[in-house]
Amino acid sequence: MLSAMDACVFCEIVCEQRDQGVIAYQGEEVVVFPSRDQRPMNQGHMLVVTRRHFRNLYDVPPELDAELLGCARRTAQAVQQLFHASGTTIKQNNESPGQDVFHAHVHVMPRHLNDGDLSAPYQTVDLATRVEQAQRLAGLMRCQ
Ligand SMILES: [Zn+2]
Repeated sequence: MLSAMDACVFCEIVCEQRDQGVIAYQGEEVVVFPSRDQRPMNQGHMLVVTRRHFRNLYDVPPELDAELLGCARRTAQAVQQLFHASGTTIKQNNESPGQDVFHAHVHVMPRHLNDGDLSAPYQTVDLATRVEQAQRLAGLMRCQ
């Protein structure tokens, strides 16, 4: 449980206190923004994040399931189109190993034929690139 003294990077992004301009979609209960860490062959890696702070999927109220999954599907369709991908991978981690940010989120990654099966290391994407990705994605996003 987060206390008022603990900072959560995703809560700060959702509240636009950090990385201003990266939010591509704002839903009632979820937001979408580009991941800070993206693999070179999978640029356009997006995160579908709950608006409220939940540690991970285990803590997300079931009434949010439809919006969360529906938004992940719509994000995947938009990412595939926008980044000229052959497909997408949707991934979700809970606890360690796997979960790095303890605020519920779903990864949506564009996939390309021969992209190395996600074995390339992540690189940090600069804010300007993420803002540009968000602006491009925003035009295609409708999650309801
Ligand atoms: Zn949070």
